[in-house]
Amino acid sequence: MRKLAAGNWKMNGTTAHLTEIAALAATHRAAQVDILICPPATLLAQAAGLAQHSPLMIGAQDCHRSPSGAHTGDISAPMLADAGARAVILGHSERRADHGETSALVADKARAAHAAGLIAVICLGETLAEREGAQTLAVVTEQLRASLPATATAANTVIAYEPVWAIGTGLTPSTAQIAEVHGVLRALLTERLDAAEAAALRLLYGGSVKPANAAGIFAIADVDGALVGGASLTAQDFSPIIAALEAA
Ligand code: PEP
Repeated sequence: MRKLAAGNWKMNGTTAHLTEIAALAATHRAAQVDILICPPATLLAQAAGLAQHSPLMIGAQDCHRSPSGAHTGDISAPMLADAGARAVILGHSERRADHGETSALVADKARAAHAAGLIAVICLGETLAEREGAQTLAVVTEQLRASLPATATAANTVIAYEPVWAIGTGLTPSTAQIAEVHGVLRALLTERLDAAEAAALRLLYGGSVKPANAAGIFAIADVDGALVGGASLTAQDFSPIIAALEAA
């Protein structure tokens, strides 16, 4: 399995920031891992152009569950693919919280992404209250079962475990906590996929991954890469995280 370093720019970046994508594409021409940058939709086509002929993949941050129709302001998976996206982040906790997205909707969106030939990066994770209430494993179990569509394979799906309380806070779970959740997720995948597929589907950790803590996180069992927010915004910060994953 090729590990994956994925960056989520969220609602950050204008054309001036495309230089970061050009810099990453130039620096990581011979990357030993997969690299995915998900800029805002406004930059997708230009970013995809810059990433052409490089190992960098460009992805989106959300898609609609329908391929087209009367959905003002939404963007469909085939449109993202047409703009040059190869993947789409789905079910990020900010979308679950800000837009009331349920796991059932995330599964529909993932199905739509697969139909358009996109890799679905499905996010899940517990809130601080759920962690403190010893609900973490129950929450991620329910989210995985309900968010994963029947179309999922190791090639077209990535799962990102992102504790909500670790996103953008500088806090990270302990090594044991990450290992516990990733182990449970890996085991749950065998409910849907055969053993080889379940072993090959990439499980990312996300939440305050930085150049300083990346190597430690990548050494944890069943961590096959990272979904990175703030530290993916500049090549200066993201490059050492990619290098740490290559070295893991
Ligand atoms: C994210 O939002 O997916 C994320 C992991 O953010 P950060 O790395 O900034 O915590």
